[in-house]
Amino acid sequence: KQGRPYWIEINIIPLRNKYNEVTHFAAIERNVSERRFHIEQLAKRNEDLKALKENLEQVVEQRTLELQKATAQLEKIAYFDHLTQLPNRRFFIERASSLIKSAKRHKFPMSLIMCDIDDFKQINDTYGHDAGDKVLITFAQTLKSLTREDDLLARFGGEEFIALLPQTPVEGGTILAQRMCDSTEELSININNDTIKFTASFGVVSFDNKNALANNLKAVDEALYYAKAQGKNQVQSYQSLVSSNTVIAESS
Ligand code: GH3
Ligand code: MG
Ligand code: MG
Repeated sequence: KQGRPYWIEINIIPLRNKYNEVTHFAAIERNVSERRFHIEQLAKRNEDLKALKENLEQVVEQRTLELQKATAQLEKIAYFDHLTQLPNRRFFIERASSLIKSAKRHKFPMSLIMCDIDDFKQINDTYGHDAGDKVLITFAQTLKSLTREDDLLARFGGEEFIALLPQTPVEGGTILAQRMCDSTEELSININNDTIKFTASFGVVSFDNKNALANNLKAVDEALYYAKAQGKNQVQSYQSLVSSNTVIAESS
């Protein structure tokens, strides 16, 4: 009567006579437009909420990915050397301790190599800092190419690099260090019209598991210092340094 369509709920009941025959139908009609309206509104609200939830889930997923990326980036900055792309000292110290634990548990030998570019300051002074950087990058790549996947190679600082070699007795460590030393001597780096040649010195020790990492670092540093003192561009082991000291002590 208002000229608008409306929703009805209708019940139709058959009416029977005494012979059980249906003779009439009675119908009860109710206007349920308002109820219907609320149901529709509710369904719509549910749809909206579902869409909102899906949207939120997408946002959370996206943010989580971004966070993971940022964390990886931060870790890279904290643990890797920007110039050579090698792990840094911090990474070395952290990874070394887990390698040491593993060496103790499985009782395998390890070697430690420390090396330092000879007269690097002179390379910087003669050819410039950028040339020095290129020398560092090439040296790092050469060392990396000679190590195995399991070896822990790092830039320890300045022009000093370190390698911890699991499953390697000192004889093997010395052979690798000598190979590194020889390969370095063969390198030539072209910058502008200059060809730069350089060498490096190497110290090697048999890693002593009963001793702290710091003491092993001290020993390999002494071996490296000995290689420098003996004329650079060579490999010296801590053992040879100790025996040379013994000889000096005996002869004096
Ligand atoms: P030695 O043979 O006794 O090792 O002498 P050296 O000249 O190599 O050693 P020294 O410690 O006197 O000089 C190291 C130089 O390395 C000094 C420093 O400016 C330079 N250096 C350190 N880090 C970098 C770097 O990232 N890039 C460049 N180009 N030079 C660096
Ligand atoms: Mg040096
Ligand atoms: Mg140095």
